[in-house]
Amino acid sequence: MHRKIPLLLAVAITFAGCSNQPASPSSAPAASDQPSEGAAAPAPSTTPTSAPEEPQPLQQPEVKEPKRYYVDTQNFFIHSVEESANEKIALLTFDDGPKGDSTLQILDILDRYHAKSIWFVSGFNYGYNYLPDPHKAKKFEEMILEIRKRGHIVANHSWSHENFKQLPPDVQRKEIASLSELLEKITGEKPKFIRPPFGSYTDVFQDEVKKQGMQWMNWSVGSLDWEYTDPQKVIQQTVSTMHNGANILMHDNPVEVQALDGILKRLTEQGYKFVLPTEVKPD
Ligand SMILES: [Zn+2]
Repeated sequence: MHRKIPLLLAVAITFAGCSNQPASPSSAPAASDQPSEGAAAPAPSTTPTSAPEEPQPLQQPEVKEPKRYYVDTQNFFIHSVEESANEKIALLTFDDGPKGDSTLQILDILDRYHAKSIWFVSGFNYGYNYLPDPHKAKKFEEMILEIRKRGHIVANHSWSHENFKQLPPDVQRKEIASLSELLEKITGEKPKFIRPPFGSYTDVFQDEVKKQGMQWMNWSVGSLDWEYTDPQKVIQQTVSTMHNGANILMHDNPVEVQALDGILKRLTEQGYKFVLPTEVKPD
């Protein structure tokens, strides 16, 4: 028992050293300083006699600043805001969803690796011509909320997945605005990021994105999960073209469901962390 006393003292001193309060006798009243309950006249209940004597909390739990990241507007790499940050990071992105079953399977795999991602969703999964399809709309809403619940970002990939270079200006604007409005209606929040279908953008696209206070991005690593049907090839393609800060383009599709675990396993072994942009950097 006696051996523990010096240790306890040491701990108490350590805590006092961490406290914001300067150490003083009054902060730790000894028992003998206190009048005994029987001897003290009952104080009027309005007098806060004990308050000044209350010991201060020894130590506030240390609040760690969350790390901040942004996507470079030129090369679409993800970077840490802190210049000196020395870590291997990547941004995972999933386009064209939410499809339903494959969405949930991908979310489960991401959870296993504590990996976060951006989902560039398409309005056509909700319905065509900017209207709800009774067979799709409810599922779409559920999936959007599930993606967010799991800690991922929902972003805009246009309503109809048309090539912006082939659309008149008013349709281009509608393709962006209609989906942003729908996502805001579902989530209560305007999407902050957008990716044009096929990576194909125009001046009108960029102008509308700016007007809506969003940031647009393409990608720096293509998984080719839209070409290959063999998941091994998708893994090989992704891992072999990786670089620090990679912005990885993947899709909400069956081959990615099969490839994703292999991709995350290898990249995790290489020391990558999968982070999200916390800042918006408009052009
Ligand atoms: Zn797409």
